[in-house]
Amino acid sequence: MRLVLVGPPGAGKGTQAEFIAAHLAVPKISTGDIFRSNVSQGTPLGIEAKRYMDAGELVPDEVTINMVRDRLAEPDASEGFLLDGFPRTTPQAAALDKLLADLGTALDVVLELVVDDDEVIRRLSGRRTCRGCGKIWHVEFDATTREGICDRCGGELFQRDDDKPETIATRLREYAEKTAPLVDYYGAQGKLVGIDATGPVEDVTVRAIDALRSYGG
Ligand SMILES: [Zn+2]
Repeated sequence: MRLVLVGPPGAGKGTQAEFIAAHLAVPKISTGDIFRSNVSQGTPLGIEAKRYMDAGELVPDEVTINMVRDRLAEPDASEGFLLDGFPRTTPQAAALDKLLADLGTALDVVLELVVDDDEVIRRLSGRRTCRGCGKIWHVEFDATTREGICDRCGGELFQRDDDKPETIATRLREYAEKTAPLVDYYGAQGKLVGIDATGPVEDVTVRAIDALRSYGG
């Protein structure tokens, strides 16, 4: 099965990607992993990408797409894969369709993790990180015994910039502008399936696997 996972920040994509890929026995491919492996192996694409990243610039689509192409051409992806974090935009989705066609294949399904904005804000803005050991707590779902103090190491808890309400609002706006049109793009191809991604992690995984069954998962 060839699958793309989409969803807003805070939807639990990374966690679900692990479980679903394991269930389907396909590699989980994230652009973060592809970037890191190209950079650490010093491939020509990795060297090019690193130049942009070192300059604090976005890596151009063309470089990212070429890295994805190389990764999807590897033997372990020949029978299927789960893409997490790519494509993020409609032009990237069109490029992915083209490169898969070049490889003689196509996507089977795009799974959307559906979480509304209020729930995303509740999940992300409640996160607190320990300055001592780095453990992430949550004021509502995984609270410490004493407010602001890590149960594991006694360290002080703080709110990362990424988890502050103003940053979350910006990330949600970017998602709505750039990534949400993907949902329409794949919907028009008849490949989109959305699942409710609220509630316990295990419940979401079960919903995902049930939804994929009708696509041969
Ligand atoms: Zn700690």
